[in-house]
Amino acid sequence: LFYALSQIDCVVSGDIGCYSLGVFPPYERLDTILCMGAGITVAQGMDKAGFRDKPLIGIVGDSTFFHAGMTGLLEISYNKGISTIIIVDNRATAMTGLQDHPGTGRTLMKKRTHTAYPEDFARACGIKNIRVIDPLDFGQTLRVLKEEIRKKAASVIISRRACILIEKPKKGPWTIDPDRCTQCGRCLKVGCPAIYKEKANEKVILIDEVLCTGCGFCAQACPKGAIVPKG
Ligand code: SF4
Ligand code: SF4
Repeated sequence: LFYALSQIDCVVSGDIGCYSLGVFPPYERLDTILCMGAGITVAQGMDKAGFRDKPLIGIVGDSTFFHAGMTGLLEISYNKGISTIIIVDNRATAMTGLQDHPGTGRTLMKKRTHTAYPEDFARACGIKNIRVIDPLDFGQTLRVLKEEIRKKAASVIISRRACILIEKPKKGPWTIDPDRCTQCGRCLKVGCPAIYKEKANEKVILIDEVLCTGCGFCAQACPKGAIVPKG
């Protein structure tokens, strides 16, 4: 998601969550970080203040959305805002220890209960443009982002993919084929901690098999098809 955002000229307001790390290189794709829920309300505030230089995107995690983001979304809808709100729905409160929240389908005492979905709430607020994307599908993510920021009405994009701490990866690691790799460095911009430069020769780029979860995302960024499943 942040790799796609880094390719769009826009203003992104965020708040506190694991996605706050998007402020750092290689993405550098958060322009504001404030209190929980402020990714939504800062986007709306800039919209109502008349900022029109670039598209306005607000970003919020699923647990933060249920905790402090829903009122901001209603405010956008009710007052006819035009920003694009991304709800990063990893079905977890990942940053603080995987506490359950209304989107996990379990109470804080771990009893089964109904699951809340942000798209249902967005619809109830009157938002007409609602999209659900898989952030591991780079083409879809970039296309939907570009489509929604063009609209002169509020949009909600739900970026849904369970945190790997909840759904353990089932696939093996990927590797870089040295015969195909041109050392262009594009895969480093994906921001995956498993991809690194070899210490002895920084031109050589490698994948750490221990850290790689086998998601295959970096392969979509490689123009040479050099990133392949290992074995
Ligand atoms: S396959 Fe996924 S986890 Fe592995 S290096 Fe590529 S982006 Fe990182
Ligand atoms: S993007 Fe592909 S060609 Fe470029 S450095 Fe990475 S693996 Fe090599």
